[in-house]
Amino acid sequence: MSWQARIDEALEQRRQHGLLRTRTANQQGAGRWRLQDGQRWLNFASNDYLGLSQHPAVIAGWQQGAARYGVGSGASGHVTGYSEAHAGLEQALANWLGYPRALLFISGFAANQAVIAALAQKPDRIVADRLSHASLLEAAHLSPATLTRFRHNDAVALRAALAKPCEGQQLVVTEGVFSMDGDSAPLAEIAAVSREAQAWLMVDDAHGIGVLGEQGRGSCNAAGIHPELLVVTFGKGFGVSGAAVLCSESLACYFEQFARHLIYSTAMPPAQAVALHAALNCVQQGDALRARLTRHIQRFRDGAQQLPWQLAASHTAIQPLIVGDNHAALALSATLRERGIGCSAIRPPTVPPGTARLRITLTAAHEDEDIDTLLEALHDAAGI
Ligand SMILES: *Cc1c(COP(=O)(O)O)cnc(C)c1O
Repeated sequence: MSWQARIDEALEQRRQHGLLRTRTANQQGAGRWRLQDGQRWLNFASNDYLGLSQHPAVIAGWQQGAARYGVGSGASGHVTGYSEAHAGLEQALANWLGYPRALLFISGFAANQAVIAALAQKPDRIVADRLSHASLLEAAHLSPATLTRFRHNDAVALRAALAKPCEGQQLVVTEGVFSMDGDSAPLAEIAAVSREAQAWLMVDDAHGIGVLGEQGRGSCNAAGIHPELLVVTFGKGFGVSGAAVLCSESLACYFEQFARHLIYSTAMPPAQAVALHAALNCVQQGDALRARLTRHIQRFRDGAQQLPWQLAASHTAIQPLIVGDNHAALALSATLRERGIGCSAIRPPTVPPGTARLRITLTAAHEDEDIDTLLEALHDAAGI
């Protein structure tokens, strides 16, 4: 089959199954409201859980950083791209989360790929939760190690997987909060089972950092564990973008030698590091924002009990309604759109076949009345 025929066929397949993905451009705003096609949308689809993407202190941080450093870092951190803004942020993150070192990456995707690529060797085994993020599973697939996926959030299945003979080292991989379901991993059990098997544990807390735990320190703090490798990302609760890997002194030094996404990539703009430092301060002082978010979650769950779609067992800001059929999920999303509500339908392969869903995300930027508007639209769509 020619290149062109292959591409046309792949697109046609997606189209037929209601799986074609497209992007729409915002004119303004990414917080409570989005402006698109000249219309204002109430936004229930962002991961900006604390509303920090629009926070004056974070915006001012970026502006001041740009005034001091310019807009780009100019090179990899290993050449001349590393600044006092990067170093200061790394130190603050390490202190805050209780690790000797933090290393900044330009994205969570890059951090996950870098860590797994740098660690995994041929006889090793990566034992990952089945529902782990694409960046983790793909990195494991691409690595020379073998990949075993264990049943979602099942520490017993994890123990069985770790008990199988392995000639190399074992790395357990899971997430604090799962992005498409909003449920939390049983981290205390997973850490205990990993330790028992002398495996290292890597936790990707993209959706927990800033939101859960004391002062927003995330899922591991909430569960009272301290994994060997903690990945936190800044595109969600921090409202910006980027990521950090928290680890020991020697591991950080190892990644400085062997993490290719760090070495062969332009460092994040120093101004972004300044903005992230401001976002970190907001997170640390963010108890009121977190309380507001918790109140919205409770309001939504209380109000959604009668809806005909399955409400996921989630107590986080991610509150998916499982619709099932791809086309039905798209139709529900379209019905909400008619009411000025933006909320995306998530379909396979992002989620398992037959579990297409409306991925509703709540944020501290919402008002109580926004939650009520959403609930009313959902009840009308259900005809109840
Ligand atoms: C969003 C996400 C990532 C990717 O992080 P980016 O910074 O957006 O690249 C990684 N892991 C999980 C679990 C995520 O939800």
